[in-house]
Amino acid sequence: MFPASFEYVRAHTTDEAFAALQQHGFDGRVLAGGQSLIPAMRYRLARPAVLVDINPIKDLEFLKEENGFLRIGATTRDAALEFAPWILQRYSLITAVSKVVADPIVRHMGTVVGSVCHNDPAGDWTATSLASRAVMVVRGKNGLREVPIDEFLVDSYTTAVEEGEMALELKIPIPDAHTQGSYQKIERKVGDYATCAAAVQISLNADGTIRQAGIAITAAGPIAMRVAAAEAMLVGQKPSLELIKAAAAEAPKIASPNADQRGSSEYKKDMTRVLVGRGITEALQRLGVNA
Ligand SMILES: Cc1cc2nc3c(=O)[nH]c(=O)nc-3n(C[C@H](O)[C@H](O)[C@H](O)COP(=O)(O)OP(=O)(O)OC[C@H]3O[C@@H](n4cnc5c(N)ncnc54)[C@H](O)[C@@H]3O)c2cc1C
Repeated sequence: MFPASFEYVRAHTTDEAFAALQQHGFDGRVLAGGQSLIPAMRYRLARPAVLVDINPIKDLEFLKEENGFLRIGATTRDAALEFAPWILQRYSLITAVSKVVADPIVRHMGTVVGSVCHNDPAGDWTATSLASRAVMVVRGKNGLREVPIDEFLVDSYTTAVEEGEMALELKIPIPDAHTQGSYQKIERKVGDYATCAAAVQISLNADGTIRQAGIAITAAGPIAMRVAAAEAMLVGQKPSLELIKAAAAEAPKIASPNADQRGSSEYKKDMTRVLVGRGITEALQRLGVNA
């Protein structure tokens, strides 16, 4: 199907894009990689009157470390993370995710920021952002504001980006040498959305106890969810198999997946337990701990 007709604005600077979004309010919509928005328009699930294309804005295409954060610009493609050697070396959670989002063609067009702004419950970058405690930088009428990811993700396909606003970058705290992650995703075939997935990031203290845990699940409810009870259970403890099992058992308590062609609700719920358990185990193994 063809999309409903729309006006197209090609922005060359952030100021131009922002001015167009302010002018058109709810009628305007940012076009990033277009990998979710264009299909939605073709199915007439989205009918923006004005598309504001941010792809020509060179200032928004960056991937760099600064002031303790990995900064991912709004037009930075998934593939940029997948193939950066320094990301491969130091960001195990991001590396794992960047290889399993969709397929290579989508990853060369889709953006990380666009994916988080889209906030699809089956999107891989939202749970990743929760586990790594990311922050989104949003430009609004009153200037820039930094929104912690837990506040940014409001509901299915809804974020803290308000009418006339745009997201400029996602900031992920740089993991130290005692931090590792894992992304566990099951899919029907390569390139598919998750049947269910879990993002995990674990930091250890010098004495081997867990300093911080980030755990979130994908495609297990209306929105990616932080498994806060599992995180709290891990922090301060020495890793053990019993501890991992107990923490993983917290995931199905909050999961509420829909039954669909990918599996029954019961199956997906139980897979949240399995995948969180595998994720914690793999993150610990990367830290040299075999629980
Ligand atoms: C065949 C196929 C398979 C896929 N499989 C997966 C998968 O397995 N896992 C997965 O996570 N994703 C998957 N996707 C989605 C893909 O990763 C998309 O690229 C991503 O969800 C959206 O990124 P985008 O840059 O294309 O955003 P767009 O499609 O351009 O935009 C998506 C939404 O976010 C808004 N938006 C984008 N950027 C901004 C911004 N800077 N400020 C404010 N709002 C903004 C747009 O207005 C729109 O509403 C798949 C897509 C396809 C086509």
